[in-house]
Amino acid sequence: MPHARPHVALTEGNTQRCRTETLRALKSIYPCEYSCGPLIAIKIRDTTTPQMVAEAQHAGAVAGKVYPVGVTTNSDEGLRDFHGAGITETFRAMQDLGMPLLIHGELDQKCTLVTKREAAFLPTLFMLAERFPRLRIVLEHISTRVAVGSVLQLGDTVAATITAHHLCLTLNDVRLRHPATPRLYAHAERI
Ligand SMILES: [Zn+2]
Repeated sequence: MPHARPHVALTEGNTQRCRTETLRALKSIYPCEYSCGPLIAIKIRDTTTPQMVAEAQHAGAVAGKVYPVGVTTNSDEGLRDFHGAGITETFRAMQDLGMPLLIHGELDQKCTLVTKREAAFLPTLFMLAERFPRLRIVLEHISTRVAVGSVLQLGDTVAATITAHHLCLTLNDVRLRHPATPRLYAHAERI
């Protein structure tokens, strides 16, 4: 339950309740029968241990999602360090358990434009694919050509998803919706 606030502890009861409530909400919006159903994921944080991953899988979680700190909704407790000893063991446990790692693939750095954050994350993706060759990785909602190229280059254990409405907008749409805002430029371009 990665975006939930407050956090939802992943017990078998909570997993079942979350699944039931999601299905009920889905049916209230789309009354016809759907063959799809919710899949429960846990949020991978700096404090997530191999044991927590194993327990989550036992409780019904099918994947772990990782948000780098500060890149999206409620990611203030996102992962700070993809290289630490603790998280390395957690990723290894996911690999051994066959639990996919879903990644919000952006890196928030002081002088990295928001449009460059996806590309800035790609070296981390390559590091993970090399260090954990059996870990199934999904780079979520990618938008850039460079991300597509990287995923294709990395082979069968790495895949990606797209989100349609992410691909319908460009920076020009922001300008058209807010025409009175100042023109915004990259750090290196500003005088
Ligand atoms: Zn995301």
